[in-house]
Amino acid sequence: MRPAKPRGAFAIQIPMTRNERKKLQWVRKWVTVGLAVLLVLAVAVFNALCPFRTLLAARAIAAPVEGELRIYFLDVGQGDCTVVSFPNGEALVIDGGDGSWKNDDHLMRFFKGLHAKELTFVSSHADTDHCGGLAYILEYFGAKTLYLPAIGSDDAAYTDMQTEAEKRGAEIKTAKRYEILDYGEAYVSFLSPYSQEETETNEASTVLYLQYGEFSALFTADINAKREEKLRQEYEAMQSIFDYKDYTVRLEDIDVLKVAHHGSDASSNAQWLALLKPKASVISCGRGNPYGHPSGGALQRLFDCGSEIYRTDELGDIMISAFPDGNFEVTWE
Ligand SMILES: [Zn+2]
Repeated sequence: MRPAKPRGAFAIQIPMTRNERKKLQWVRKWVTVGLAVLLVLAVAVFNALCPFRTLLAARAIAAPVEGELRIYFLDVGQGDCTVVSFPNGEALVIDGGDGSWKNDDHLMRFFKGLHAKELTFVSSHADTDHCGGLAYILEYFGAKTLYLPAIGSDDAAYTDMQTEAEKRGAEIKTAKRYEILDYGEAYVSFLSPYSQEETETNEASTVLYLQYGEFSALFTADINAKREEKLRQEYEAMQSIFDYKDYTVRLEDIDVLKVAHHGSDASSNAQWLALLKPKASVISCGRGNPYGHPSGGALQRLFDCGSEIYRTDELGDIMISAFPDGNFEVTWE
C-alpha cells in the first residue's frame, strides 16, 4: 500500500535525529530560563524606579475637627510607632516599628493618608523594633528634624535612618533634657535622657511629655523601673525640675501614658504609676510575642492605679482624640 499523500507543505514531517531532538530540548530549556531571568530583572528595575509600596492606596483618615489633637499608636507588632498629629498640621513621629515588609506597608499607607504639613522624628533608642522603619519613612516623606537617642548603634537599621535623614536635608540632633518642640497651642518637652552620662540603651530611651491645654500625655519608650524611679525622685524633690521657661511639666494625673517597654515586668513600677495616675495606658506589643509582653505584673500595677488599659496586640491601631479642655476619646481599628 502506498503511503498517504501529504495535504500541504505544513503537513510534511521530517523525522529528527536523536541529537537534533536533544538540541531542541536544550534550546527550549534555556529560552525559558532566559525569559524568566528577564522577567525578574524587569520587575526589579520597575520596583527600583517606582517602588510597588508607593503604589499602595493611602489610608482613609478623616480630617480632624477644629482644635483636635490626635495620637496614633500604630500596630507595628512587637515594636513602637507613635504619631502625634497637631492642630497646626505638623506631626511628631516617635519610632517607626521594626522595618519588616508588613510594617513598612502599614506605615506607607498611614503617612500617605495623614497629609502632615511637616514631620519631626524622634528615634527613642537604637533597638530595631523602634528605629527599623524610620529609614523608609524618612526616604519617602522627609523630615524637618530627626532626634537621635543618647546611645547610637552600628546596626544597618540605625545607620540607614541617619543616612536617609541626611539625604533629605533633615536637621539631626541628639535628644536631651530641656529640648522643646513648640507646636503653637501644644508643646513637647524632653525629660530624658541625660546625654552625658548614659550607658544603657533602654534606660537612656527618650522620654517625652506632651501638653495641650488641660490634656497631657507621656511617652516612655523602653525605660526601665530604675529610670522611672530616678525621674520620680527628681520630680518629687522639685516639681519644676523638668520646666523650661514657660513650658511646664506636671506629671500628676497624666491623661495618656505610652507604657514603657511594651508592658515588661521590669518597667511600670508602682510608685511611678502612683505619681502619674494615667487615665488611659497604651501598650504597644505584638500578638503572641516571645517576650511575654505585657507581663501580668505590669498589667496588675496599671489596673491597681485605676488606669484603663489599651493594647495594640488586641485592638490594632489605637487613636486618641484630644481637646484643650482635657477631654479625650480612645478609638481603635
Ligand atoms: Zn522595644
